[in-house]
Amino acid sequence: MSTPSATKIFRSEEELSKLSASQRIRYRLQAADCRYHANDNIAEFIADGEIDELRGEVAAKMQEVLEALVIDTDSDHNTNETAQRVAKMFLTEVFRGRYVPIPEVTEFPNISRLNELMIVGPITVRSACSHHLCPVMGRVWVGILPNEHSNLIGLSKYSRICEWIMGRPQIQEEAVIMLADVLQDRVKPDGLAIVMEADHFCMQWRGVKDNDSKMTNSVMRGSFLKDANLRREFLSLLNQKS
Ligand SMILES: [Zn+2]
Repeated sequence: MSTPSATKIFRSEEELSKLSASQRIRYRLQAADCRYHANDNIAEFIADGEIDELRGEVAAKMQEVLEALVIDTDSDHNTNETAQRVAKMFLTEVFRGRYVPIPEVTEFPNISRLNELMIVGPITVRSACSHHLCPVMGRVWVGILPNEHSNLIGLSKYSRICEWIMGRPQIQEEAVIMLADVLQDRVKPDGLAIVMEADHFCMQWRGVKDNDSKMTNSVMRGSFLKDANLRREFLSLLNQKS
C-alpha cells in the first residue's frame, strides 16, 4: 500500500538538486506511486552518479551506527574504514539487485520446438533476510517446460537473473515468486517450477542458533501445477542431482 497525496508535492529541479540523493530518489518513487520495499528494484529512479552519492550517505549513517555501538573507529585501525566498506558492500555488492537494471538477456525463438523438461541448477544463491540483514546462502533449481511459443535464454542468463533477484534483502517465500515472475515473463514456458533451499544465518548466528536448519520452498506454475507426473519427474531429477 502506497501513501500518495501528502508526499505528492511538486518540486522543481532546482529544489530537488538541494536534496540528498536518497531524498531525490524517494521523491521520484513517491511521485510515481512506486513501491520501494527492501526487495524492490528501483534502478529506473536513480540518475547517473547518484549511486556514488548514496554510498556517501550510507557511509555517514553507518559511521553513526558504529559510534552508537561505542566503537572507537578513530584509534581502532580495523574499524577505521568500516563505514565506507559496508556502504560499498550494500550498494554495489550484496544489495546490488535493488540498484541496477535487469541484466541484458537475449531471447531466442524456440525454432526446434523443444518441449521436454529442462532443469537448470543448482544456481548458487547469495541473499540476505530483510528482517535482520543476515546472509541467506543457498541453491536454486529451475524447471522449464517450453512450448513452441516460448523464448529460450542462455543457461548463464538464469544465473544472472537469479543473482539480480537475490541481491536484495528479502524473505525466501517472496524471492522465489519474484524469480518465477521474471522467468515466466521472459521465457513464457508451458510450465515453470522453482525450488530454493537455503541456510538463513539469522537462525544460526543469532536467535535459535540452529546450524542445521535449511528452508526449502517451491513455486509451481502452469503444467507443473496440473500434471503430477511432470512434478514428480522434476523433483526426482533434483533429488538425483543434489
Ligand atoms: Zn532474519
